[in-house]
Amino acid sequence: MVPLNLMGERGHADYALTGNFATKAYEEAQKYGACHVAASSAEENHTYIPPQEALQLDPTASYFHYCANNTIYGTEWQYVPETGSVPLVCDMSSNILSKPIDVSHYGLIYAGAQKNMAPAGVTVVILRRDLVGSARADTPIMLNYATHVKGDSMHNTPPCWCIYILGLVAQWLLDLGGLAEMEKINVQKAALLYDYLDESRLFHGAARPEARSRMNVTFRTGDEALDAQFAKEAAGSGFSNLKGHRLVGGMRASIYNAMPVEGVAALRDFMAAFEKAHI
Ligand SMILES: *Cc1c(COP(=O)(O)O)cnc(C)c1O
Repeated sequence: MVPLNLMGERGHADYALTGNFATKAYEEAQKYGACHVAASSAEENHTYIPPQEALQLDPTASYFHYCANNTIYGTEWQYVPETGSVPLVCDMSSNILSKPIDVSHYGLIYAGAQKNMAPAGVTVVILRRDLVGSARADTPIMLNYATHVKGDSMHNTPPCWCIYILGLVAQWLLDLGGLAEMEKINVQKAALLYDYLDESRLFHGAARPEARSRMNVTFRTGDEALDAQFAKEAAGSGFSNLKGHRLVGGMRASIYNAMPVEGVAALRDFMAAFEKAHI
């Protein structure tokens, strides 16, 4: 939808390739126009986030697209890219609502609900009004943002239950004290695991320290058989889905908003006990 709606007359856009979903977005967008790789971390298996100075920005691009949190690799942008008058487009699927963001920096934000907001089936889009209404002529009506703006997001029957749950989650966040409070909790959760990883003699973090994600903590022992044993024993103790994505291997602890501090502390303790038994 982003290239169909925003590529416009200029017909070309900048993409930062920092992981799986960023790269998929780039590949898909190439069907609709010329896409330029403004930065890529592929040569180091996406273990880092390119700094601002490394972004090769085209000032005539229709937009600059990046993915704020790389779910599979466990890296997260620690800064908002500065792109001048080129609109910022961001996939925030896996870190939206994890901390306050200044939406005024962005032309368009999109996020699938299923990580931090609600069950799968609804996608949140926040876009600047002036970017609505210049979709390509052949854009299907369902894929035109103007349709959804005009129809108050009810052009067709929306997934009511998912939206209802999203409302409850938003209320839960407000009751907690808002996103600034949520951020404090997420900082605390991530630190529990990263501080342990920095001291561990068995486990090592997969992402470079300065690029670490607060939502997805990737780590490994360096021994694939031991990684598999860890994931299996962890599952047996109630820590599910710790096996890393096949693109990275090792382990991944996804500690989204819904995961309480106690859950992360319990995982850290489990890891420490496993380390003691295997070192
Ligand atoms: C999960 C995720 C997606 C894709 O979500 P699906 O609905 O499963 O396709 C896209 N981008 C990011 C950053 C994600 O974490």
